[in-house]
Amino acid sequence: MRALAPMSGDEAALREAMVRGMQRLAALGLNRGSSGNLSGRLGASFLVTPSGVPAEDLRASAMVEMDYAGAVLAGGQPSSEWRFHRDLLAARSDVAAVVHTHSRYATTLACLQRELPAFHYMIAAAGGDSIRCAPYALFGTQELSDAALAALQDRRACLLGNHGMIALGKDLDAALALALEVESLCAQYWSAVQLGAPTILSSEQMQAVLEKFKGYGPGSKP
Ligand code: 13P
Ligand code: ZN
Repeated sequence: MRALAPMSGDEAALREAMVRGMQRLAALGLNRGSSGNLSGRLGASFLVTPSGVPAEDLRASAMVEMDYAGAVLAGGQPSSEWRFHRDLLAARSDVAAVVHTHSRYATTLACLQRELPAFHYMIAAAGGDSIRCAPYALFGTQELSDAALAALQDRRACLLGNHGMIALGKDLDAALALALEVESLCAQYWSAVQLGAPTILSSEQMQAVLEKFKGYGPGSKP
């Protein structure tokens, strides 16, 4: 355990952002009680939310610092899902934050073990032409982490069978924004299938969206 080592400004800012992120997920109804968790990269280590602490009770000082071997460097009991946080941050150099929710619509589809096809062009926000659903595995296990990593191949989001969803980002804001988008897509898909079989976009149509996304956003050229 790290005793009284000085904390960098980056670490202090990440701890605060993680508290705000968990509170935002709770306020938006994406998580409740102590369901869900999040993590952020911190150089050679990472921070993950503590296990079993509801968002309203969460403090920046309660975030748990871990190394990539799974050792706790500072703090108490890490999230039971520290393995998939660790494995995703270790395997994906494009990712610096991982968000996990038990949000209503993502979890509804996950309980059907249903992957989202390209029923709406915004599916491309998760990096491809589908959002996969990982098979069920017991929470907190290496089996769940392995299943999540496979479902996230070439993707930034997936559903977890009979459990919830994971969204990844280059930073915490991006991962939170994607989690919101995925929940909204799941709600739209759920609504659409009530009325019939949604029209699925072709791989050419989705490729065009993925290309167009490269030049989309306030920083890009018109
Ligand atoms: P933790 O409170 O241990 O993070 O667990 C919540 C959860 O979502 C388990 O999958
Ligand atoms: Zn969970």
